[in-house]
Amino acid sequence: MVVLSNVNKHFGALHVLQDIDLTITRGEVVVVIGPSGSGKSTLCRTINRLETIDSGEITIDGKPLPQEGKELAGLRADVGMVFQSFNLFSHKTVLENVTLGQVKVRKADKKAAETKARQLLDRVGVGAQAEKYPAQLSGGQQQRVAIARALAMDPKVMLFDEPTSALDPEMINEVLEVMQQLARDGMTMVVVTHEMGFARSAANRVVFMADGKIVEEAQPEEFFSNPRSDRAKDFLSKIL
Ligand code: ATP
Ligand code: MG
Repeated sequence: MVVLSNVNKHFGALHVLQDIDLTITRGEVVVVIGPSGSGKSTLCRTINRLETIDSGEITIDGKPLPQEGKELAGLRADVGMVFQSFNLFSHKTVLENVTLGQVKVRKADKKAAETKARQLLDRVGVGAQAEKYPAQLSGGQQQRVAIARALAMDPKVMLFDEPTSALDPEMINEVLEVMQQLARDGMTMVVVTHEMGFARSAANRVVFMADGKIVEEAQPEEFFSNPRSDRAKDFLSKIL
């Protein structure tokens, strides 16, 4: 459902994405790993057009990504994104954070949007925090609100860019558990993470990137027990 064909992207002289071919099928959980600077975040950001590409094509359900305007807002709703920094609206309550996009982009009725927001907040375990402001929540709670906010748009795919990297250790699991549950529920997901336990248990496929290229793609058991490339072997020896 998300297809990247021969995608290239430069930042000045830096060829940050090099001939990327990647197909993500419906319901699939793809975990992207690789050294710092290899292009993982840039790859994610091209899928919802936070970054443009220089050549190649990205399609979602067979349609090229829209370029601008209303359609671009629709794309950002279809492609939910959760960042390392939670990126909630700090001057809005938790409930407003999860309601806003539904009303503005999806044109939902305010009451219906609030009902849905409360259901989603319950689902990610922060229903009791609905009237609070983001700064009154722990990092793990804020990140779960960010997930609920993305889910409220009924996304076709969810992108997670190191969603637990900014969290204190004791909060990592509560976020990973929400993501595990989403994966079990059949959400199509692209997850950039250093959490190899999550990769092993939730991923259908591991994509290993280095220097702007996809170096290796394999099922998690295969990748972790028998990495083929020297780059992957080297990377795994440093993090495992
Ligand atoms: P990390 O694991 O550290 O998050 P990453 O794999 O996500 O790394 P990217 O953030 O995609 O890597 O960055 C890839 C390369 O592109 C890096 O060398 C980075 O410095 C560079 N880069 C990223 N964004 C920009 C930008 N807006 N302008 C110029 N260079 C950029
Ligand atoms: Mg990154």
